Amino acid sequence: MARKELAATGAMKELMATYFRDLGEAAEKHTAPVAWCTSVGPAELLRALGFRVYFPENHGALLGATRRANAYLPRTHALGYSPDICSYLCSDIGAYLAGETPLDRFGLERVPRADVLVFNTNQCGEVRDWFEFYGREWDVPVVGLVSPRSVGEVSPRIVDDVAGQLEDLVPALEAVAGTALDAGRLERTVGLSRECTDLWREVLETAAHRPAPMSFFDGCIQMGPAVVLRGTGEACVYYRTLLAELEERNGAGVAAVEGERFRLYWDGMPIWGKLRDLSNLFARFHTSVVASTYCNSWIFEALDPADPFRSMARASVELFIARAEGPKECVIEAMAARYGVDGILFHDARTCPHNSNTRYGMPGRLRRRLGIPVLTIDGDLNDLRCYSEEQSRTSIEGFIEQLAEG
Ligand code: SF4
Repeated sequence: MARKELAATGAMKELMATYFRDLGEAAEKHTAPVAWCTSVGPAELLRALGFRVYFPENHGALLGATRRANAYLPRTHALGYSPDICSYLCSDIGAYLAGETPLDRFGLERVPRADVLVFNTNQCGEVRDWFEFYGREWDVPVVGLVSPRSVGEVSPRIVDDVAGQLEDLVPALEAVAGTALDAGRLERTVGLSRECTDLWREVLETAAHRPAPMSFFDGCIQMGPAVVLRGTGEACVYYRTLLAELEERNGAGVAAVEGERFRLYWDGMPIWGKLRDLSNLFARFHTSVVASTYCNSWIFEALDPADPFRSMARASVELFIARAEGPKECVIEAMAARYGVDGILFHDARTCPHNSNTRYGMPGRLRRRLGIPVLTIDGDLNDLRCYSEEQSRTSIEGFIEQLAEG
């Protein structure tokens, strides 16, 4: 049994294809400067300066989803990068060294060469090392934000610091872009990003309905425009279409998972090479994964066009992955209540300790606090050697039996 596919997906694939073709053309024909940006980096600032913005983590996810990642990891490990570090980083660099990319389906022979690489350490420090590889390779500038992690209270002092760093980036980026930052254009871009974020939140919140019209596995696919096209009108147009379809499903009582019996929350990274298998496995047990930390990470409610720099800084600091255990637990507790979940599944991703919330006792604390079953499965975002199909299936089946016993 499979979950019910969304009709809007065709339009989303077309939108993503246009985005990649445009990027490829900008890099090959120099029609616009190209910036690489971490997934929750200052994309709005880059777009306002006229850059075409490329997100290598999205490329990492594509390598995982197409199950090509494992073929490339050894090349990067042979360069002295540890097998324990981010498998997005290692598969992406390995693919570059092999001269291959899944973007070839959009006519790109190679990843778009950057004119500048812009990181934000709010998610992890590994993105800086990742970007510095390409900075050395192409002899182009690598700049970024050193945004704090393990943040408890989001104080004005922390926000001021990151806002100051953002402002300090402007001259270096203007020099590469060959143009001055236009304040009005930045405000409009932040406004579009906020609109995209609000629509994405509404899309995800449709799954609070019983039965849920979409699942985490749909979210992993549908989030593409929110990641790579925030700050553009096209992303907003797409999410209005998707939202209309989901609301129609809710009106008609159409479920993503037929006969929805149980509802789960997914914490941690997706296992990209196993999305379909896991989706089918849960569907077989009439279980819908209705909410996740991962998909929600592209909701930036702080963004405010009237105060672009400080609001971008606040969004960076408030990011779930950048928070301390206490605030993270409060977020998951609120999500569990809002979506009415019967249990929580934690994915412990071997090469991403930053987005694995299993290592300091959180699953046990939440089990006791919420009084619902919690399961941890071992795996990885891209390195499928860390994932045991057999063991995970047995654990998930046992977990669902536990839910059935009440
Ligand atoms: S947060 Fe995790 S998956 Fe993302 S770049 Fe950092 S180590 Fe890799």
